[in-house]
Amino acid sequence: MRINVTRSSMPAMDEYMEEIRSLWDSHWLTNNGEKSIALKAELEKYLDCPHAELFCNGHLALEALLRAMGLHGEVITTPFTFASTTHAIVRCGLTPVFGDICPGDCTLDPDKAEALITDKTCAILPVHVYGRLCHVERFEEISRKYGVPVIYDAAHAFGVTKNGVSAAAMGYASMFSFHATKVFHTIEGGCITTGDADLCQRLCVERNFGIAGEESTPGVGGNAKMNEFQAAMGLCNLRRIDGDIAARKLLYELYEAELSGLVDFLPQQEGVVSNYAYLPVFFSNQAQRDQVYDQLKQQQIFTRKYFYPLVTQFECYQGKPGFDPAATPVAAQRAAAVLTLPLYPDLTEEDVQRICAAIRGVIA
Ligand SMILES: *Cc1c(COP(=O)(O)O)cnc(C)c1O
Repeated sequence: MRINVTRSSMPAMDEYMEEIRSLWDSHWLTNNGEKSIALKAELEKYLDCPHAELFCNGHLALEALLRAMGLHGEVITTPFTFASTTHAIVRCGLTPVFGDICPGDCTLDPDKAEALITDKTCAILPVHVYGRLCHVERFEEISRKYGVPVIYDAAHAFGVTKNGVSAAAMGYASMFSFHATKVFHTIEGGCITTGDADLCQRLCVERNFGIAGEESTPGVGGNAKMNEFQAAMGLCNLRRIDGDIAARKLLYELYEAELSGLVDFLPQQEGVVSNYAYLPVFFSNQAQRDQVYDQLKQQQIFTRKYFYPLVTQFECYQGKPGFDPAATPVAAQRAAAVLTLPLYPDLTEEDVQRICAAIRGVIA
């Protein structure tokens, strides 16, 4: 039987049907309807943050954030991320400047980031990778010292906390993705969390064609609203989220026990309660990683080289100044060795044992 790297968590069909029933009474399908108003309130509670503005997906939420902040110039960021982070920066007319990552958690190294600050720097955009957090205290310090806002790509960090503080309350603002493959999803979707009410106002305008009122269009905005069917899926999924994360944790620990000594896992972070969004393991070299990937595929086990290649190796950025994978050797080394293994709440223990046996069969 085929095992994919992930499988979307879904409510019982009846529960979703019940949730969307009222939409047939109201005929109100998008534009800030009752479901998205309810989901916004539930998320602000669950994520323990003052404001969560909903979007049709995480990527457009990030683009809207960069635009609503009125940024110009350079954004210091990491090459060890999904295409979205860098593409958002570039598509908003900004220049990404890449710093290397910390080997222990694969997040942007604050010292490397600090060394890249110039008078052109308008923001720092680190990524909380795999459900682990960035070195947020150091970034807070750097932000204050230089007066540069830190905004997080928190696409992987739904529900993650450090010493009781939510990832959604860190930095000036954070983007969460609610894509079907994420820990919490609305099929497609996302949000921006922030403590700045004025920014929320600008995000709402940006999300809705730049329209601020019936006869007022101050901005050249896009369309990035979440619709009511997405929000209804979110309301259902939020009811199961704690159970889903607990199931992920148990499976994660089983993998650790089964593969201990054979591959490297990232160490736990002090004070951090993770959401176990992904299961990255690191092999001794790229050849071994690729061999495991190929062999598992032949056994119908589909893993992912996530994140490989680095963003700085993408064809679309080839030859562009500043896009040099050799400038971030730790990221290049991690990208060459990583494989993310299947992890989702209804993966069975037998599945994990089968996957681990297949890996042992290749490298033991
Ligand atoms: C999923 C993801 C995004 C994009 O989110 P979408 O909701 O799919 O648009 C951005 N950054 C990272 C790191 C992601 O994993």
